[in-house]
Amino acid sequence: MQTYDYIVVGAGSAGAAVAYRLSEDERYRVLLLEAGPDDYRWTRIPVGFAKMSHNPAVNWLYHSEPEPSTNNRQLHVPRGKMLGGSSSLNGLAFVRGQAQDFDTWSQMGNQGWSYDDVLPVFKRMESYEAGGDDAFRGRNGPLRVTNPEPNALLARIIEAAGQVGIRHNPDYNGANQDGIAMSQATIASNRRQSTAHCYLEPARFRPNLRIETNALTENVVLEGKRCTGVRYSVHGQKREARATREVVISAGTINSPQLLELSGIGQPERLQALGIPVRRPLQGVGENLRDHYAPRTRWAVGKRGATYNDSGRGLGLVRQALRYVLSQPSMLNAVAAPLRAFVRSREGLEAPDLLLGWVPMLTELGPKGPFISRQSGMTCYAHPMRPESKGSIHIASANPRDQPAITFNFLSSPVDAELTVTAIRIARSVMTAPAMAPLLVSEIGPGSAVTTDDEILDWVRRVGETTYHPVGTCKMGQDPMAVVDSRLRVHGIEGLRVADASIMPTLTSGNTNAPSIMIGEKAAAMVLQDAAG
Ligand SMILES: Cc1cc2nc3c(=O)[nH]c(=O)nc-3n(C[C@H](O)[C@H](O)[C@H](O)COP(=O)(O)OP(=O)(O)OC[C@H]3O[C@@H](n4cnc5c(N)ncnc54)[C@H](O)[C@@H]3O)c2cc1C
Repeated sequence: MQTYDYIVVGAGSAGAAVAYRLSEDERYRVLLLEAGPDDYRWTRIPVGFAKMSHNPAVNWLYHSEPEPSTNNRQLHVPRGKMLGGSSSLNGLAFVRGQAQDFDTWSQMGNQGWSYDDVLPVFKRMESYEAGGDDAFRGRNGPLRVTNPEPNALLARIIEAAGQVGIRHNPDYNGANQDGIAMSQATIASNRRQSTAHCYLEPARFRPNLRIETNALTENVVLEGKRCTGVRYSVHGQKREARATREVVISAGTINSPQLLELSGIGQPERLQALGIPVRRPLQGVGENLRDHYAPRTRWAVGKRGATYNDSGRGLGLVRQALRYVLSQPSMLNAVAAPLRAFVRSREGLEAPDLLLGWVPMLTELGPKGPFISRQSGMTCYAHPMRPESKGSIHIASANPRDQPAITFNFLSSPVDAELTVTAIRIARSVMTAPAMAPLLVSEIGPGSAVTTDDEILDWVRRVGETTYHPVGTCKMGQDPMAVVDSRLRVHGIEGLRVADASIMPTLTSGNTNAPSIMIGEKAAAMVLQDAAG
């Protein structure tokens, strides 16, 4: 059996950062296990997300349970399954969240997670190449972040937003999040800046780091109350590895609680029903699931040539490809939603509570994923950033290859429903502001006939989707539903931590890649600190 100091399970946003930092110290031998493959051709080029959103080679392709609150649909739940995890197929927007998000975590009793605590970590992990204030932005980290320029269409939306009181914010990851801005991008030199590229490529030839791909971890090994290693399989062949110091689970919000439950850590009655011996009762495993549920409003654009539907199909696509090759702005190296606004639902709030994101085209969904519509238009999604609705993720069988049951309970909190309606009304106000008039914009969905709150909500329940930010299923805290403590150690088990988006007690105000990488960075620092004694 192979023996390491540390074993990290999952090479995603957080896990890659954990493995990179732990193996910086040459004294420690580190094993990184990843269920998916090493590399995939569409991970490099930013627009590759469209080729991977429904691709089983690199995507777990989960789906949720049908639920009445979302019209009994099964929602598509993509998750990266390769080196870099979801950072290798995500929409490339770089958003840290608000200072208040992390201060809330700290106020919940999680020492070391206030904004003042995490800001140095956010700075350490990035190289921000577009100015910003040194008090907030890092210059020398592994992750390259850029700030693209708006094209004519997006500049017009920024102007329209200004006309309804949403100001332009040059750096929403700086002092304040408020306002409208181009999405900062994990794109640089024409390439996706995944954690596979930024963290693992420079580290993979370190003699003390071994990366095993196509390695599905099936459970952690427990001796009494101590975790001593993992069992995993590679192409069906069973293997075991031993960790003399610690195992860090970074398998993401869906697979981390799955792995704990498969190992006998979770709700006793649930595990017993599936024939899994209970090693550590922990009621919170798989609970507290939070995600962003967003309707995509759709808009026709009458002015020819303004959207990617005109300039990104047929010969236009050839031109876009040429621009990409020449390193000029192109739809091939753009963030999926290149413009976003952080806004308040009402006066007097301390910070924005709604997120709007614009995509400068209409897409349709085919069996192999989304494709560009023939009709010219735009999409604008709109949703509350800190939803109160909570769901769960639990194993449905003792087989590690079976997908867990994902229940979101979206819109179960009336506040979420109310805020979603408000967000749609704000999207409408921007899209119908005077600056948009020359584009000859008209509403397709929900459609101008849909006006009352009830009508809008009915549409939201029928068409909303997740924006792919599930968090919280191994929540950090001290209460009875907490799974890990503030140093990310699993309560009641030695030598086992969880470090990924699943530990977030609440959802951050925005997208979740940046905070997940921060969690990986911080976890590694705590592991090394504890090893130093
Ligand atoms: C389609 C999509 C678009 C998104 N767009 C954005 C965006 O634009 N901006 C943004 O900030 N966020 C975005 N996100 C969210 C963001 O990418 C994730 O929140 C973040 O990557 C989560 O990091 P993680 O480390 O928790 O999990 P992941 O990055 O998902 O990593 C988990 C890793 O563990 C591996 N794994 C799982 N189970 C096992 C096992 N049993 N054995 C071994 N390995 C295992 C997985 O294969 C995966 O590689 C998007 C997500 C998706 C899916």
